[in-house]
Amino acid sequence: MNAETIVTGVVAKSTPVGENDRVLELITKERGRITVFARGCRRPRSRLVAYTRPFCFAEFTIINGNSNHLQDAKAINFFEDLPLDYEAYIYASYFMEFACYFVLEEMESTDVLNLLYLALKALTAKNKMPRKLVRFAFEMRMLVLGGVGPYIHECMECGEACEEGWFYHSRGGLLCKECRPKDDSGIYLGKTELFTLRYVCAAPLKELFGFTLSPEVEAKVLEFCEAYKRRNIEKRVGQFPSLEELNRMGTQNCFTHLHDASK
Ligand SMILES: [Zn+2]
Repeated sequence: MNAETIVTGVVAKSTPVGENDRVLELITKERGRITVFARGCRRPRSRLVAYTRPFCFAEFTIINGNSNHLQDAKAINFFEDLPLDYEAYIYASYFMEFACYFVLEEMESTDVLNLLYLALKALTAKNKMPRKLVRFAFEMRMLVLGGVGPYIHECMECGEACEEGWFYHSRGGLLCKECRPKDDSGIYLGKTELFTLRYVCAAPLKELFGFTLSPEVEAKVLEFCEAYKRRNIEKRVGQFPSLEELNRMGTQNCFTHLHDASK
């Protein structure tokens, strides 16, 4: 028997298949990551076409049989301006890839969905937060939501909530002045750097995007984030595209999407 369910989610990926169809990768609040077929959505005047474009947030009505089929949808936000801004489009595609790595089938994903929504809002906002900072805040928070965030709220040894400390990538956490080895090992995180990292890992999602940093602090925390990702993600994800790779292949992909979306 086919059951009908309504899920709230976003189109993370949309791939044309056959003559008139698309296969969608949705990240949903209720069921995590699910694959959904949108039959006939590329036919002229299909009422579903708008809901099958990447970055469309909606309530999707899905028929669950042997596979999932898109029956209907009610839009929350199409983010229709995103494809018009090439750089924002690349960032948004990257965020979706990044989230897809962490979200599994049937995993409750309210926070991930909210994070994606707010990150896309930040990319398209008028008074823009620098995009590399949007990316930094998004990535750090996604790592936390994915269960692999850094241990920075206190010293790993004595539990002191220190204002500055030394981070050890080999241990995934922070040591205070007293507990750290008395050598040059560890990455020093000053008061502002540590505050910034704690903020992006734990601030309420609604307040996550909207800060700026001095060039020195920015350089330090971005470097930290890159090193942390290298150790905690990329070694386990062979095909995970970097933003730079997405940039290289982006033009083609971007315009393929735009072209397909106009069908
Ligand atoms: Zn300590």
